[in-house]
Amino acid sequence: MAVPTPTIKFVYSFGGGKADGNESMKNLLGGKGANLAEMAGHPDLLLPVPPGFTITTAVCTHFYEHSRHYPSELKQQVAQALEQVERLTGKRFGDEQNPLLVSVRSGARRSMPGMMETVLNIGLTEKTLPGLVALTNNERFAYDAYRRLIMMYADVVMEKSNGFEPANGKGIRKVLDEILEKVKHENGYKSDTDLTVEDLKDLVAVFKSKVREILGAAFPEDPMEQLWGSIGAVFASWNGKRAVEYRRIEKIPHEWGTAVNVQAMVFGNMGDDSATGVAFTRNPGTGENQFYGEFLVNAQGEDVVAGIRTPAPVNEYSKNDQSRHLPSLEYLMPELYQELYGYQKRLEAHYKDMQDIEFTIERGKLYMLQCRVGKRNGVAAVRMATEMYREGLIDADTAITRVAPGQLVELLLPMVDPREEQLYPAVAKGLPAGPGGAKGRVVFSSEDAVEWAAKGEKVILVREETSPEDVDGMHKSQAILTTKGGMTSHAALVARGWGKCCIVGCNDIQIADDHKSFRAKDGTHIHEGDWITLNGTKGLVYNGSLQLSSVDLNENEAYGNLMKLVDNAKTLHVRANADTPKDARQALEFGAEGIGLFRTEHMFYGEGSDDPLFRLRKMIVSKTPEERREALDELYAFIKKDIKSTLEVMDGFPVTIRLLDPPLHEFVPHDREKLQQLAKELGVRVSVLKRRVLELHENNPMLGHRGVRLGISYPEITETQVRAILSASAELLQAGKKPFPEIMIPVTCTVNELKHQKLLVEKVYAAVKAHFGLEKIPFMFGTMIEIPRAALQAGKMAEEAEFFSFGTNDLTQMSFGFSRDDIGGFLPNYLEQKILQDDPFQTIDQEGVGELISFGIERGRKTRAHLEVGICGEHGGDPESVKFCHRIGMNYVSCSPFRVPIARLAAAHAAVEAKQKK
Ligand code: PEP
Ligand code: MG
Repeated sequence: MAVPTPTIKFVYSFGGGKADGNESMKNLLGGKGANLAEMAGHPDLLLPVPPGFTITTAVCTHFYEHSRHYPSELKQQVAQALEQVERLTGKRFGDEQNPLLVSVRSGARRSMPGMMETVLNIGLTEKTLPGLVALTNNERFAYDAYRRLIMMYADVVMEKSNGFEPANGKGIRKVLDEILEKVKHENGYKSDTDLTVEDLKDLVAVFKSKVREILGAAFPEDPMEQLWGSIGAVFASWNGKRAVEYRRIEKIPHEWGTAVNVQAMVFGNMGDDSATGVAFTRNPGTGENQFYGEFLVNAQGEDVVAGIRTPAPVNEYSKNDQSRHLPSLEYLMPELYQELYGYQKRLEAHYKDMQDIEFTIERGKLYMLQCRVGKRNGVAAVRMATEMYREGLIDADTAITRVAPGQLVELLLPMVDPREEQLYPAVAKGLPAGPGGAKGRVVFSSEDAVEWAAKGEKVILVREETSPEDVDGMHKSQAILTTKGGMTSHAALVARGWGKCCIVGCNDIQIADDHKSFRAKDGTHIHEGDWITLNGTKGLVYNGSLQLSSVDLNENEAYGNLMKLVDNAKTLHVRANADTPKDARQALEFGAEGIGLFRTEHMFYGEGSDDPLFRLRKMIVSKTPEERREALDELYAFIKKDIKSTLEVMDGFPVTIRLLDPPLHEFVPHDREKLQQLAKELGVRVSVLKRRVLELHENNPMLGHRGVRLGISYPEITETQVRAILSASAELLQAGKKPFPEIMIPVTCTVNELKHQKLLVEKVYAAVKAHFGLEKIPFMFGTMIEIPRAALQAGKMAEEAEFFSFGTNDLTQMSFGFSRDDIGGFLPNYLEQKILQDDPFQTIDQEGVGELISFGIERGRKTRAHLEVGICGEHGGDPESVKFCHRIGMNYVSCSPFRVPIARLAAAHAAVEAKQKK
């Protein structure tokens, strides 16, 4: 007997209190499909979801792997699922008396707002139209639905999915739109709702002939052809230009594919007892635990997101400056509002996270069309996570992982200096869609934003509204300002997702027809290229470039609560790279537990460096060890003071002090005038100085006379620095403080270098102890691991070193053979062509450089079980790299003070992830 081959399930139905799928099946059903199934079928929810079915992402994969053909079983499975929808709605697809209309929408695993296609009102034809008229008793509504279908279908299916490039850049939708606008204009109509049945009938006829004329084919009058055409177009839109671009920015894998959701249509535009809206179970802008949303009476879902009409608030709380005068849903339809309020409560309790909800009211009946985890900015994410934890909705580990490390950046966002805001009145006010302050030069198109940003300009993109085509320009802009749209418009959603400063619905300004300037209500005229400043937290627009200032994190209670959970969870310590008392204080404020890299050479750069630099130069031109020692003796006091002030600030915390690292030639002037002046100051002949500078010249200074090599050539340099470190510590000990320096030798490649330096350290230690009459000055001796050989020799290095600090900037440079200063020439191309996935100087190359580090730690700890290990390259503040450092057993990471909170959160994520893996 032949064994029947099991058929793969490609279609999952939902509706009527049942569903084949559920929320856990996002990979297969996409986010939208999985949540529709959950809302419809989960016993705790059983919400009124219009029935429908989801075609899985596996079909999308098949589609692309088989030259756009479907699996053979699909047709039959779709037919069966459609029958079920017909049974549940009591309507039939294509029926002339009682036609079922459906929508076809995309739905990937992760939401990609507006990036793919949707077709609505499918099933409407010349034949079914009279049925819809009779059913609804509303001829105008039926013809309006029909003209919308023709427009959408021609655009999405007939033009875009077939890859037709519109002539003179004007797509069919635009052509049809212009015809519509012309009719409105000729009749003096203000809005689409003024169009009469006769107008709409005429439009339908004109649309159809235009479609045939431009696209060379007729709009299909067969419902099944419409359905399959739309399904194909949605799958095709996965690889549309803007979807691909969005995935690149958001790092969403191209292999995932999208699911397709086919669902019975419900109409929010059937009259004043119908409406449609978008809402959030908590405020996505602030995180406040308040039901928040917008809606439009007598409208389709797209109208809310498109930002053409100003949406009304769902309740009193959701009112803003633009919608204050509009009646709320709670006021207009109190019972339906209560029903919706109950559902949103149920949804949040069920999902245990903030939900973004779409709903439609058709003739007094509420339908839930979508729910998904809502996007939120960093400020809101922190508040929601900590409040949900306090409410007992989620546990501490969940609260921690609810905030992405990168989102903390938004809490550290610059704000417009309040003093300047007092001085300069705002020229316009809009809706505060994305918090923080930003300034930049005005551009009016996404292309200009990209082009100007590439030239290093800071720009603010000003548009009437944004569309998915604008994502690249939006991404490259400092901020976005739109004159139309509400808090749920495209610009607001996208900016919120990125944590970008954004103001929407700013109708105080009007963009000129030529898109080269805008005029504010107060008469201010701002041209392309002019500077403006935005306060995205309040929605204010300022003329000119105002000062931006940083915020005081300590005032943010939710942040404080989150970081308590973070510090409880994490095991990896976080230090800062800092080399001034000011940076050290800042680092402590951000929660650093020590300094992982104090670069001693900083004292020779910038403010206050004249004196020490002069003495260093004197040391550099010295001819004999005696002369050098004399110059170093003069330098000693500066070094000690410098180190002592930071050790003092970091009282009780370790401070890793790196001995002089850069090649000496970096400290001498190279132009004639400066050489002459220095020669005069040093009392030497210019020719002598010149010769010395020439001697110092190297072809590859980064691979030359630097790091420990200096300390070996000139032991006096090491001695002086160590004497300064230990004496500074001794003085602090005597003052009752707890200094803990870790003396770090840079750029080593063999244990013999460490042996050499250690002898010097021990000699100085004995002398300083005796000098201060102390029994012990606590400190550690260790090395940086920056050279692959040092990592390979780690077992031996650990014989002398009590700690390792991986200098991954140099280690990456020397492992790849890429100059850290000159990768700009080829790296963008490498990333573009996917030769490399990421810039290895930003995020640790785990499989190459990371292997060297793991090997080094393992070998080092074989020799010295309690070897302390950290990282002090730039990677120490990159969340993925921090997690890697946790996994391979480092004791700490060290990064710039500003990134310390991010690294702490990443370390906590790593600990939670490790716990969950067990
Ligand atoms: C490193 O190489 O990773 C490092 C921290 O040292 P520097 O960047 O100063 O070379
Ligand atoms: Mg280095």
